[in-house]
Amino acid sequence: MFVARGVLWFGGWATISSNTLTPPKMGKAKTTRAISVKRMINPRDQRLKKNQKPPKTDKEKAKEAGLVREIPQISSSLFFQFNQSLTPPYSVIVDTNFINQSIQNKLELVQAMMDCLYAKCIPCITDCVMAELEKLGSKYRIALRVARDPRFERLPCTHKGTYADDCIIARIMQHKCYIVATNDKELKARIRKIPGIPIMYVANHKYAIERLPDSIT
Ligand SMILES: [Zn+2]
Repeated sequence: MFVARGVLWFGGWATISSNTLTPPKMGKAKTTRAISVKRMINPRDQRLKKNQKPPKTDKEKAKEAGLVREIPQISSSLFFQFNQSLTPPYSVIVDTNFINQSIQNKLELVQAMMDCLYAKCIPCITDCVMAELEKLGSKYRIALRVARDPRFERLPCTHKGTYADDCIIARIMQHKCYIVATNDKELKARIRKIPGIPIMYVANHKYAIERLPDSIT
């Protein structure tokens, strides 16, 4: 049915064109010139050997089947049961919240850390924590004064923005030589997932330590 209709329509068009439009030139036979074209295969053609994917190795097959799990490399300092690179004087990275909690509890940071760990401690403050404190304004000027203490070690930041939590996590993933001092629940939970990093926090008007091997507390 469809074909018949198409033919009819085409016939109609053909008659119109021959009547109203210029009639097609007749007589000149179509000539096809033989052009010799070397047919080249596309260099990216899949049929070429170099474009074919190498056969899958056993490892890749196992990965696809979900048999292999990617486990992050564990620091060699964790070869023994606990973190060997943690020795006094301890470097303690403090966050904004920890400084504020210490002030509220009238704790002098360096002294209170020593009382907690029975060893020399160097509080470390990152550029982004400093920037956070500066942003908080005049209400936190005491915290800022505490953070500017010359006994504090300044850890320079190279990242963009001032999101301190991510910065601290990135640091402790790279270097296992820090203790992190924070009272932030979320940050504590994130640190617990990283092996070998003890957490210092404020509890009962003093500092406490979590996960420090052989800790006396
Ligand atoms: Zn930072």
